[in-house]
Amino acid sequence: MKNYTLLSLQELNAPYAQQLKEAACRVIDSGWFLRGAETEAFEREMADFLDIEHVVGVANGLDALRLIFKAYIEMGKLQPGDEVIVPANTFIASVLAITDCGLTPHFVEPSELTHNIDTSIIEQAITSRTRAIMVVHLYGRACWDDNLTTVARRHNLLIIEDNAQALGARTHNGQRTGTLGDAAGTSFYPGKNLGALGDAGMVTTHDAELAQMVETLANYGGSTRYVYEHKGLNSRIDEIQAAMLRVKLQYIDTENIRRSEIAHLFDRLIDNPHITVPQHPAQAHSHVWHQYIVRTHYRDAFMQYMHDNGIATGIHYPIPPHKQQAYKEYNDLSLPIAEQLAGEVVSLPIAPYLTNDDIQYIAEVINKFDPLKQ
Ligand SMILES: *Cc1c(COP(=O)(O)O)cnc(C)c1O
Repeated sequence: MKNYTLLSLQELNAPYAQQLKEAACRVIDSGWFLRGAETEAFEREMADFLDIEHVVGVANGLDALRLIFKAYIEMGKLQPGDEVIVPANTFIASVLAITDCGLTPHFVEPSELTHNIDTSIIEQAITSRTRAIMVVHLYGRACWDDNLTTVARRHNLLIIEDNAQALGARTHNGQRTGTLGDAAGTSFYPGKNLGALGDAGMVTTHDAELAQMVETLANYGGSTRYVYEHKGLNSRIDEIQAAMLRVKLQYIDTENIRRSEIAHLFDRLIDNPHITVPQHPAQAHSHVWHQYIVRTHYRDAFMQYMHDNGIATGIHYPIPPHKQQAYKEYNDLSLPIAEQLAGEVVSLPIAPYLTNDDIQYIAEVINKFDPLKQ
């Protein structure tokens, strides 16, 4: 029996091992570990890749999002107590960034088709205190449309992108996620499409003042050493991680194309009435397939069956943020679509190192699943 983990970081990084080791040695020999040449080069190369003016490397994806909100507060564009619209179907870090800055999340249901925020109902969620919308390009699918931009313009709202899962994705007119809104936070957690060998993240924006403020806040709140204008934090990217990311950035488009081929193979090969593959709306943006998610009413049985057949699966995510103990104050909210998705989604292995034969095999196993025989 073949064995498949959900994701092997060893296999993911193996093609670049030699280059990564050389880059790590370069940093070790330089004796310079923070705010140096690697970070500067990484920020410049990423700015070219995304076609955006400002890239600020930070310690992780959650900090990238927190720093954006914190910077807007310091700039007077947001105030504690303001409401931020956020998808109910997201990883908890999207919401943590909001509440950590004293802002109030307002959860909006996802579209069943895309699993992203349902942009057609955002306007109903706007109150006199709403100041921003956070969009999350969940699983790697770009979330951007006219509903969103029209509502934001009409109500003078900032748009902040949680780009943690979607580096490299584009809208149908070719613009990359991370450059669509007023600011974006991206994560380079090792399992993300562009993963560091540890924690790292970045803020991207067209706004020079915001970029400067984020950089200052991420360095204790001072732009000059030992002179502090703001109460900041320590959230810098390591030179080592910047060097690792410079190696892997060169291959991200190729890897994302491979992920997309795998996803389309799964779409074509999975044929089981109990398993629903991802749907593709008419005017689809690019999807970089951080996760390949199927839905089933028989999740426990399906996951056990896959496990018994040597194929690991995952759940992204089993409990929506508003039902977490950490957010007791929102536990009584009813967001039935988000809750239903949380009860039905299953993530299959997807990674650039998987071959067509691997995908064929996994699909064949899936097609033999019969919940009545479990
Ligand atoms: C991974 C992730 C984050 C947080 O990034 P970290 O680098 O782990 O802090 C935020 N939002 C989403 C949607 C994520 O998937």
